[in-house]
Amino acid sequence: MSILNWFIKKKKQPRGVITCYSGKVVAKMLDGGNTDSYMYIDQKVRPDSCPICHNKLNLVPNLLIKVHSKDDLSSTYDGYDVISEKFYNFCKEGGYKNLRIIPLEKSKGFYFFEPMDVFGLDYEFCRTKFIDKRDCCGSYDEVIRPPVIKAKNYKIESNDFIMKAEYYFGSYSYKGNVIIVGTETAKKMKAYGLKGLYFKNIYDSNGLKITKKETDAIVLD
Ligand SMILES: [Zn+2]
Repeated sequence: MSILNWFIKKKKQPRGVITCYSGKVVAKMLDGGNTDSYMYIDQKVRPDSCPICHNKLNLVPNLLIKVHSKDDLSSTYDGYDVISEKFYNFCKEGGYKNLRIIPLEKSKGFYFFEPMDVFGLDYEFCRTKFIDKRDCCGSYDEVIRPPVIKAKNYKIESNDFIMKAEYYFGSYSYKGNVIIVGTETAKKMKAYGLKGLYFKNIYDSNGLKITKKETDAIVLD
């Protein structure tokens, strides 16, 4: 190591602290790729948003959009999940309940996708941010940081399910669902060969270990 490198190394200070969890994994948060497109181009004139504050209130898919995605699950930039024929077949064969699946008329083999059952998460413990509540419709401008801990009073009935979090996450009309699947479902999805899926652990609050780690990266809070 040259003197200069040594000096740079010495000067480098941790810029943030990240929180790491470990413990019993009770479910998985599921993410996919992106469709590289929007459901609605105009963020101000949308059937899914409040006409006054323009925050998203419900998911109202535009069935005429054209989607191209190589991933079996992908999201539009404005928060809509789209699944492939293969993902659709996985849901059908697995008998998963309460899923809203609607074929996109101009995109053969792609479907709008929304689980309707809500998985209970601990919003308080994970310090989810609910920013700027609006009087017009009661929505928040932003809902940031989905919890990674199950709510204490929420009872998991099975390890095989496809559900969602209670709120849409993100900003304004770009918000979208957080999809949550059972630990068994995650294994089945991988075994079925579904592509482009990312899983993140959701932990039980019992026996949870929390450690803080210093990092060089800037941590946004
Ligand atoms: Zn509003």
